[in-house]
Amino acid sequence: MSKLTLDRILQSQGFGSRKYCRSLIEDGEVAINGEVVDDYRFTPDTDGLAFTLFDEEWTYREHVYIALNKPANFECSRKPSHHPGVLTILPEQFSWRDVQPVGRLDHDTTGLLLMSDDGAFIHAQSSPKRHVPKVYAATTHDAVTDELIAQLLGGVQLHDEPAPLAAVTCRKLDAHLLEIVLEQGKYHQVKRMLAAAGNHCSALRRTAIGGLQLNALDLEEGEWCYLDAAQLGLLV
Ligand code: URA
Repeated sequence: MSKLTLDRILQSQGFGSRKYCRSLIEDGEVAINGEVVDDYRFTPDTDGLAFTLFDEEWTYREHVYIALNKPANFECSRKPSHHPGVLTILPEQFSWRDVQPVGRLDHDTTGLLLMSDDGAFIHAQSSPKRHVPKVYAATTHDAVTDELIAQLLGGVQLHDEPAPLAAVTCRKLDAHLLEIVLEQGKYHQVKRMLAAAGNHCSALRRTAIGGLQLNALDLEEGEWCYLDAAQLGLLV
């Protein structure tokens, strides 16, 4: 249970500066249990706190853990250069909360992208010491062959890597569709591994991270959802 005044609570949830949040409260914009609260010093219990602001219901969250079904043509970078950043897909208060992508997908890669404002979580998930399998569906230019699969499983040498990189598992889903599971997260890894094996990746979609399956989240491209504790537990 945290003891924060209402203005600090709104600020922590990304609704703007403390001064602005105070003005929202004093203007009668915030209600708790149907009652307007216009004293910014009010200190409710944050556990399970629900409030109304701008005629919408909100629940207090110390941190947010988000799954986005990333569409193509959005960059994961904090300073995107050629395409809009993925943060522009989320409501504005998430940028105020300093929500960031956990790792990166290329601008043209679609699928499961985690986002959070919990620095420890981002750090832990991005650590190279963690071997969380990431599952990709890669559309290939040339047909998927047994030889391609054998090469990817055996390891392929990328020019800036000290040792060959191998897929954890790899299987043909269709004539030109390959499922490849990786434990590392090297730059353009799937695309470079396919190129090193003599094929070409023409489209890429991340379908799962650990046991968290994008399909199970039922998100259209561009849609997002909060992850609960059980879903976060699948990320190991
Ligand atoms: N591998 C790639 O080549 N690109 C991605 O976006 C993710 C993995």
